[in-house]
Amino acid sequence: MNLVEALAGGVGPRTAGSDAAVRAADTVAAAFRELGLEPRFQEFDLVGYEADEPELEVEGEHWPAGPCMYAHAFDGEGTVKKIGESKAPVGEGMLPNFAVVGADGREVARLLTSPFSTGAIPFMSAHVHITTPPTAFVSRSDSERLQDGMRVHLKVGGRFLPGRRERNVIAELPGRSDERVLVSAHYDSVWHGPGAIDNASGVEGVRRVGEALAGRDLTRTVQLVAFAAEEIKLTGSRWYVDEAKLRGELDRIAGVVNLDCIARGDKLNVLASPDAMLGRAVEAARGLGLLDRYELDTGPATGGVDSHWFADAGVPAVTILHFPYDEYHLPADGPALVDETLMDDAVRLALELVESQLAHPIGR
Ligand SMILES: [Zn+2]
Repeated sequence: MNLVEALAGGVGPRTAGSDAAVRAADTVAAAFRELGLEPRFQEFDLVGYEADEPELEVEGEHWPAGPCMYAHAFDGEGTVKKIGESKAPVGEGMLPNFAVVGADGREVARLLTSPFSTGAIPFMSAHVHITTPPTAFVSRSDSERLQDGMRVHLKVGGRFLPGRRERNVIAELPGRSDERVLVSAHYDSVWHGPGAIDNASGVEGVRRVGEALAGRDLTRTVQLVAFAAEEIKLTGSRWYVDEAKLRGELDRIAGVVNLDCIARGDKLNVLASPDAMLGRAVEAARGLGLLDRYELDTGPATGGVDSHWFADAGVPAVTILHFPYDEYHLPADGPALVDETLMDDAVRLALELVESQLAHPIGR
């Protein structure tokens, strides 16, 4: 089974808490079973969110807008007021952020700049779910056209869906020690996004690493993990780490190699912590000849990727990506975008890092 086809082509958009996400988790479990493994689900409760298409009019003209997940509802008018700028998460530059101010001078909604991609994308704001104000995303080029005092009509909202469940999918390749190295990727996608690159490509990468290691004599255990609910603030990986903390199992995790968006993109990104892990990852990339063919971006394993909670808890962790790419979080993120060379290279790097972490784990 190729999980890019099965998830992006077969299941399609699969936001956390949706029926499609249930099918996606089952699909990943079936692919792990094909490797001769016995997958299990790590379940957790979730308040889901089903976004409505935002409606944005600026000075009487329709503008494209992307929904902000978990935004509270708003339908009304106001004027634009720039509230500041935040640093772009990738590359140079600043992202302007705006409030919509009502007739009484109160801020009634937010218009934020899409941090990646070319269009107005579905995304999360910096706020935690339960406090997210009425918010929509505009594209970078549209945000440059927004001026203080412009008249705006905005309608945003969606349904909060209590009582949903989500599932991380876990399959183990037992080793001689129960100390484990994780190979991980998130399988959920954004609203209206088939998520072929983000992140069916990463889940397929995990499957391939598992395929390469299956049947081998392993010094430590390898766990293949497909995380749920990454697109809503890394919720599945957070659940995994929080559970490990509660159960006193955190020190059994010898390392994490996470894959996110590995089959398209301008640069090879290696995000790793601590520094010794980053050094090892860059050397591995060099050894495979990847630095001759890709521009390299490096950083810590924290930020908007599932390695975040592990690195935050002191577990050696790395996320491999090819990034950025234009179709990120858009309906155009389909299976035809996959570049097998990029995918192969990311999988080879992941495999090498898993093997080195199995043989000589970098300490915390
Ligand atoms: Zn992703």
